[in-house]
Amino acid sequence: MEELDILVNALELSPENKILRNHIAKIQFDTGLYEEALENYKILYSTDGKDVQALEYMLKSLLNLEVYDEIQELVERELNQRIDWAFGFFVLAKCLYFKEEYEEAMKNYEKSVDIDSELEDIEFHKNLLQFTSSQKVKLKVLEFSEKEVCNEEFVKTQISFKDVGGMEEVKENIQANIIFPFRNPEIFKVYGKSAGGGILLYGPPGCGKTFISLATAGECNAHFVTISITDVLDMYIGESEKNLHTIFETARMKAPAVIFIDEIDALGGSRQSMRSSTSRTLTNQLLMELDSTQNNNKNLLVIGATNTPWSIDSALRRPGRFDRILFIPPPDIDARVEILKLHMKDKPCKEIDYLFIAKSLSKYSGADIKGVCDVACQSCIKKAMAAGKIVPITTEDLLDAIKVIKPSTIEWLSTAKNYATYSNQSGLYDDVLNYFKINI
Ligand code: ATP
Repeated sequence: MEELDILVNALELSPENKILRNHIAKIQFDTGLYEEALENYKILYSTDGKDVQALEYMLKSLLNLEVYDEIQELVERELNQRIDWAFGFFVLAKCLYFKEEYEEAMKNYEKSVDIDSELEDIEFHKNLLQFTSSQKVKLKVLEFSEKEVCNEEFVKTQISFKDVGGMEEVKENIQANIIFPFRNPEIFKVYGKSAGGGILLYGPPGCGKTFISLATAGECNAHFVTISITDVLDMYIGESEKNLHTIFETARMKAPAVIFIDEIDALGGSRQSMRSSTSRTLTNQLLMELDSTQNNNKNLLVIGATNTPWSIDSALRRPGRFDRILFIPPPDIDARVEILKLHMKDKPCKEIDYLFIAKSLSKYSGADIKGVCDVACQSCIKKAMAAGKIVPITTEDLLDAIKVIKPSTIEWLSTAKNYATYSNQSGLYDDVLNYFKINI
């Protein structure tokens, strides 16, 4: 508990530090200090634009404190504004169960699972069934659990575009072509168009391909799953294709969903360049899934990412597959300032000259910049331990950290320059050429 006391002292010095408060609240919750956790979650909830996660932990703390009337009042009030709030119905069900109002509890439990099947709680459901006359088991839940469901984790993310520094053009493009159709399907339907499809992101490592994809899912309130070749490859012939198909099928069931295929060059690499027939059939399976994405499922977005667009099978770029191709370059100066600010947010800082630091970060990727911030933080933690008090991070600390972390995009940029200069017949690398015009 000594660690918790130190953190609580630090929070008293910077009470507006939301990350720290959240961290403390979670420790308090996990160690059974529900009253203390509740206080912190109440503050987070009221100061953080009604943060749903804080609200849900508030309710979990109240459940542990067994104050059911308070919970019921709070949830019913919130449900007036959040009509499809699955967790609200779930907590209400628990609350009503403890108040021995079993029929109502069952109704609320069923509603919660209807909206979000991940809330299914078999033990709780069994208990409810003992006390209710309705022995009907929800068909939908059974259907879902009996179907073959893949092991990959489908998540809902809170990350949105405001967490991604820079990339204004990419964000605009995704807004117009992806998010707008997802949010306004009826307008698109009038013109015979639907949401979803495929986009391909390419660029040097660490520049935010995964991050912007996650944020896109967050903006669309869609499920997100990442797959890589290791997830689908199986030693038995035919199993890899089945694995890939299962992931796509599960995503269709959970639509709206975003499937992110990392290193798609490994999965959908040029078929001529593949010696093994397994890889070739896997590529064919991917092409089939992309085609059926077009035809069968209107709310499935597939985002492929690669650092080596030159080794991608051209069949993948055909209309209806990955027909939108976006270059994710290293961040420009404004983006670097934003990324620095994002990664220093909620940390104790002292008058940092972000522009000055960003000027020294040419060709650094977003991940490199995060690394610089982490190194500066580490060195200040050491200083704080020695001084026995919080030591703020300064411009000098960040400049020292830059000496430790080197830019990781240089090698990629020189390879890409060759392809863009000598193999750009289809205009695929126009954006890369433009980048070099501005940046050299
Ligand atoms: P790779 O090609 O190696 O898979 P990537 O392009 O997918 O890399 P990400 O995994 O998205 O890169 O980025 C790594 C980390 O760098 C992110 O989790 C994030 O913390 C940070 N980062 C990258 N770009 C940005 C950005 N524009 N704004 C804020 N953070 C960023």
